[in-house]
Amino acid sequence: MIITIDGPAAAGKGTLAATLAKRYHLAYFDTGMVYRAVGLQMVLENSDLNDENKAETIAKNLTFVKMMELSHHKDFRSDVGSRAASIVSAYPKVRAALLKMQQDFALNPTFADGSAAQGVVYDGRDTGTVVCPKADLKLFVTASSEVRAKRRFDEFVQKGIVTTYDKVLSDMLARDKRDSERATAPLKPAENAVILDTSLLNADEVAEKVFSLIEK
Ligand code: C5P
Repeated sequence: MIITIDGPAAAGKGTLAATLAKRYHLAYFDTGMVYRAVGLQMVLENSDLNDENKAETIAKNLTFVKMMELSHHKDFRSDVGSRAASIVSAYPKVRAALLKMQQDFALNPTFADGSAAQGVVYDGRDTGTVVCPKADLKLFVTASSEVRAKRRFDEFVQKGIVTTYDKVLSDMLARDKRDSERATAPLKPAENAVILDTSLLNADEVAEKVFSLIEK
């Protein structure tokens, strides 16, 4: 079984993906990580984020091992890393270089310990439209900008990261705009995606809705 979950930042995709992965024995691929890895590597090398060719070279050389190594860096999920990921992800050459790695994962999905999974749940922006258009179930998870910014702000506070709600909201709106307006693989629901607005739902309520969709 292949499930894709697309949508804007902090809409609840990751939480839902992890719940579905556990319940249905699926491997989980958070595709934002590939863009975060390329963006962070650019930052660490002091490369100009406008240099598409440099970003493409990094993308072509990205491996799972390298991505996991970078994921432990303090800026992997910080505002610096998020901004860099958002910029490099708009480059068609970068997206092309990272596509096969994402698609190949579904050929032989495994858990972190190497054991076989019964499918994949993908989470990202274009997983139902580009990465896996033949998925069994495509979800588009969204919520109002204010609710999403509040959720992300609360996460930062919990992690002890000093920021303000207004900064989180404006960073998020800038990322949403870049993701939705880029020419290649813009953020949009796949044609036959089920759209879930989580603004007024908690994580359990969202999961229940999806369980019933799948079990139907
Ligand atoms: O999901 P996450 O916030 O970790 O993604 C980081 C960035 O990577 C997003 O802001 C988006 O620009 C980009 N991305 C993308 N396509 C995906 C997943 C993420 O363009 N499938």
